[in-house]
Amino acid sequence: MRPQPVWRSFSLLQRPSRCSIGLRTIQTASPARVPNFAFAFDIDGVLLRASKPIPGAADSLALLKQQGIPFILLTNGGGKHETERVAEISEKLNVPLDAADIVQSHSPFAELVNGPDESSALENKCVLVAGGDGDNCRRVAEQYGFKNVVTPGDIFMANPSIWPFSKNFSDHYKTFARPLPRPIDPTDPKKGLKIDAVFVFNDPRDWGLDTQVIMDILLSRQGHVGTLSDKNGQIDLPNHGYQQDGQPHLYFSNPDLYWAAAYPLPRLGQGGFREALEGVWAATTGGPSKGIELKKTVIGKPYQGTYEFAERQLLRNRTRIFGGAADLPPLKHVYMIGDNPESDIRGANSYRSEFGSKWQSILVRTGVYPGGEPAWTPTTIADDVQKGVQWALKTSKWSS
Ligand SMILES: [Mg+2]
Repeated sequence: MRPQPVWRSFSLLQRPSRCSIGLRTIQTASPARVPNFAFAFDIDGVLLRASKPIPGAADSLALLKQQGIPFILLTNGGGKHETERVAEISEKLNVPLDAADIVQSHSPFAELVNGPDESSALENKCVLVAGGDGDNCRRVAEQYGFKNVVTPGDIFMANPSIWPFSKNFSDHYKTFARPLPRPIDPTDPKKGLKIDAVFVFNDPRDWGLDTQVIMDILLSRQGHVGTLSDKNGQIDLPNHGYQQDGQPHLYFSNPDLYWAAAYPLPRLGQGGFREALEGVWAATTGGPSKGIELKKTVIGKPYQGTYEFAERQLLRNRTRIFGGAADLPPLKHVYMIGDNPESDIRGANSYRSEFGSKWQSILVRTGVYPGGEPAWTPTTIADDVQKGVQWALKTSKWSS
């Protein structure tokens, strides 16, 4: 069966996770003083800027830890495993953090390892992972539990003619490419390489190769690399036959068109790659003007699925802190502190919690927000994260 249609993947993101990324159950605080609120922090522009701590960030997290107030770091960044990422942040901010304290853009992909049922589990299927430095994202995917991960670099090194222009990067690819689990063999699809899901895990580095490989897979018969579906372009079929022949589902982890780097102007992010791929898709198939879409799932802030995943993790962390007592008061408020109105504020404002919590948004001035009227109106604006935390503690009538 097709591994993960869009509707399924979204409903899947609503299910409790069966794949832990490092949860432990430790009772560390007295339930006598259990806050009915928690925090979610964006990282870049809130806690760190150009990898350096923002003043007040370390003290704010230390205060919450000391008071037993749960929080989670919620970022559209990625490319490293959660354990590695929190270790770096922990060192920079001098606050102990656990892998369960962070949700990165690709963290929800871990839920697809087991899937909602055995038939849709991707654990032993062959998945393509694109993006990131070297094959770091392959290794992250393997740590999540995916057992058969192929990168575009593996495909290129085994078949350089798939995208001849990447020959200039052969020295780079050979440092991490692995042999393909099966050769590309369009003459005998049963024996050839078959991809069952395509993940853009992080920002692609070699847009040309990644675009070509993903297009090949989307136009193939059932994900058999090197084949071309006869259904493509058949106007009597839904979507003119495109993505109607058992091709693997396509996932993107991060919708951001631009991101703030060291360069004075914002740089194209994973959303830029997606727009480029959509353009090539439209030029190849006829695109939206002919009623043809690129079927895909995009997660990351500001999407509901990512906030749901984050809240489930926050609730598990709350149980980790306070234990699973039946009289644990429900989580009523979550304060999302972010610097990006488009992702942090929009996401928190539009999120509808299935657990009954209300999310409030706090926009800080230490990141990409340039001042003035924000595109998405936050609950409040604070000069920095420390002021934001103070405002939230006061609003929740918490005396520290
Ligand atoms: Mg940010």
